[in-house]
Amino acid sequence: MTELDRYEQDMITRIDYQSMLTHTLEWSTINSGTRNLDGLGKLASRLAAEFSDLPGIVALRDPAPTEAVTATGKVESLIAGRHLVVRVRPDASRRILLTGHMDTVFAEDDAFQQCRWLDTDRLNGPGVLDMKSGLAIMLAGLKAFETISPDLGYDVLINSDEETGSLSSAVLIDELAVGKFAALTFEPSLPGGIMARARPGSGNLAAVIAGRAAHAGRNPEDGRNAVVAASDLALRLSNAQHPSLSINPAKIDGGGPTNVVPDNAVLRFNIRPRKEKNVAEATVVVANLSAQVASDHDVDIKLHGGIGRPPKMISPATERLFGLVKEAATALGEPLSWRDAGGVCDGNNIARQGVPVLDTMGAIGEFIHSPNEYLDVRSLVPRARLTALVLHRLAQCEQL
Ligand SMILES: [Zn+2]
Repeated sequence: MTELDRYEQDMITRIDYQSMLTHTLEWSTINSGTRNLDGLGKLASRLAAEFSDLPGIVALRDPAPTEAVTATGKVESLIAGRHLVVRVRPDASRRILLTGHMDTVFAEDDAFQQCRWLDTDRLNGPGVLDMKSGLAIMLAGLKAFETISPDLGYDVLINSDEETGSLSSAVLIDELAVGKFAALTFEPSLPGGIMARARPGSGNLAAVIAGRAAHAGRNPEDGRNAVVAASDLALRLSNAQHPSLSINPAKIDGGGPTNVVPDNAVLRFNIRPRKEKNVAEATVVVANLSAQVASDHDVDIKLHGGIGRPPKMISPATERLFGLVKEAATALGEPLSWRDAGGVCDGNNIARQGVPVLDTMGAIGEFIHSPNEYLDVRSLVPRARLTALVLHRLAQCEQL
């Protein structure tokens, strides 16, 4: 339907700009960097209070245990924040999933902590776009939708570790995605309001390299230089990439005094396979190059991590979901297009379960993950209206 019916018309007039802006400002002043467990806890309580306006059960779920490799190559366990889950009408025959994240890339000690207005439309602040406004839009859309006595059931997941790859919430995402009719994720749109279509996969890996120490002047031939091996591996990985498989060697830690052949190094790199077959290819490439470098430099190399997010492929059902959203946008007088994106998000994980997902239902703005991040507040109302309308039409449509 390209036009709004009476109920839809009534529903979208209930979207309130001021409450979304207030939520965005309030939630953005609480630092919720992925490693700031205190801040995440505070924000989770606030969100739990606001989302309990919905007719469902709100719960905080413990994170799954995860591991991190330290700069010296030690593997340590890492505790993430708790994840918020809201379940509404669990017995409904048709249920969908709505997801967002409460964490940001800005740590507690980052200089970027305050919101300020750049002009009357643009709000600059940490996480204002990615994605505290997205959470506000989701809540406003759901509340408006609830006013027209719906029979659609849904789960809301707001995780605490999306910015570091959702390692402690991946199991929960899988659990909540299974069997859902469709899913909506409230990441910001691409610039200009464009929705993201396919996405590559992504994985973060660390190669921990153990060489042998020796005196740089007296007996360097007895040493096995771990820093040189790490550099060689970085080069070989970089040379192995191609358009469907990008590999980014990002950081090398290791070594010590200049008169010692270093016996330890850690190389960290990110891999983005475009398609499923490139995931298998990446695994082989990384294993082979590591084995070659280990042998050529006579060092030991241990690999940690893997491809946590699979490529997000577009199924016919995803195409139909986009069609439904586009038609709803047209009915609201907003043109909508989509294109493939290079970034990754929880939409990747959801798509793995065969659930059609549109993952850029959030606000419009620019420069996420930088101190220039801003939200265009004029996008709040249109996006919340779109959310409510899409929910209503997902409840009504015969199938996807
Ligand atoms: Zn995000």
